[in-house]
Amino acid sequence: MPRIEISLAKIQDNARILSELYGQQGISLMGVTKAVLGEPAIAAAMIRGGVEFIADSRLENIQRMKAAGVIAQFVLLRTALSQAEAIVEVVDISLNSEIETLRSLSYYAKAHNKRHQIIVMVEMGDLREGVLPADLSSFIHQTLSLPHLKIAGIGCNLACYGGVRPDDRNMRALSEQVDRLEKEFQINLGVISGGNSANYEWYKTAQAVGRINNLRLGESILLGCETVGRKIIPGLHTRAFQLFAEVIEAKIKPSLPSGDICQDAFGHIPVFQDRGLHQRAILALGRQDVSVSGLKSNNSLEILGSSSDHTIVTSKHRNLRVGDEINFSLDYGSLLTAMTSPFIEKVMQPGLLNFHSDMAA
Ligand SMILES: *Cc1c(COP(=O)(O)O)cnc(C)c1O
Repeated sequence: MPRIEISLAKIQDNARILSELYGQQGISLMGVTKAVLGEPAIAAAMIRGGVEFIADSRLENIQRMKAAGVIAQFVLLRTALSQAEAIVEVVDISLNSEIETLRSLSYYAKAHNKRHQIIVMVEMGDLREGVLPADLSSFIHQTLSLPHLKIAGIGCNLACYGGVRPDDRNMRALSEQVDRLEKEFQINLGVISGGNSANYEWYKTAQAVGRINNLRLGESILLGCETVGRKIIPGLHTRAFQLFAEVIEAKIKPSLPSGDICQDAFGHIPVFQDRGLHQRAILALGRQDVSVSGLKSNNSLEILGSSSDHTIVTSKHRNLRVGDEINFSLDYGSLLTAMTSPFIEKVMQPGLLNFHSDMAA
């Protein structure tokens, strides 16, 4: 069975370093757990590292963390009208951009004798979620009339759909909206959540962060990189996750198939490069387990291709044998699929122990 080994100590370390870095300018963090299926041990490592909120796009993941005893302020990143009642029951804060959904949240908050907190998402150019700036005043005005909701803050999301880079211009525009709305409605917006792992370059180069006081980070905590150019953030661990798969066949074979070439298992006509006879190995790992295109070998293995259940690799430098184990690093997409696959065993390596449990052990 393929397995993914997860270093909780590295994840905790990344969360701590990022909390300290962003904390220097008064920015708190939400640790985003959606790529790891809301794995409770990972959420706990993020919390030990200093994140102030745990955020996920799926209610089921948040329920899983709560059931496992994770204690945090839980934030739902994607809010659906049909889930309004469950959202009010399960999470503390949800991200929102539709007034109809807010009416329903308020209705169920009343029914459950709660005050549900919301963060209003603003469209700043990336064209995923968000209220258009021109509609913001009217949106806030209507929201303030819903008695069982509390506006916890405002936020925006960039670099996800449109690939728009967070920069001084759009971050300052968000800050200006905050100033304007606070004045217009005589309110304090609280959490100003400026973005995600793509905000690193902006943060490092910005003269001032303006009103931004929060970021929602998944990938940079989990994989140690920012997401504008996928550059490693200095000091962070990039190998908190390693995927292991077993070699089930290893032979010298030709590099060109013989016979008429038709469509492969996924409907593509494959193209091959002739490198003569070479050492090839087949791994017990396939596209039903993981998005293979996002795997990277740490032993200069080359991935030649994959089907549902097999991945074919070649190595110039290493003699692969049946039963050998091969390990890979994963990009965000591969991490997401591997953590979601029931076929991949998740092996948690311990977090940093504190002094007393160290002694006890
Ligand atoms: C997924 C998500 C994030 C986290 O993005 P990363 O690039 O992993 O940091 C932040 N905000 C929202 C709304 C998201 O959906």
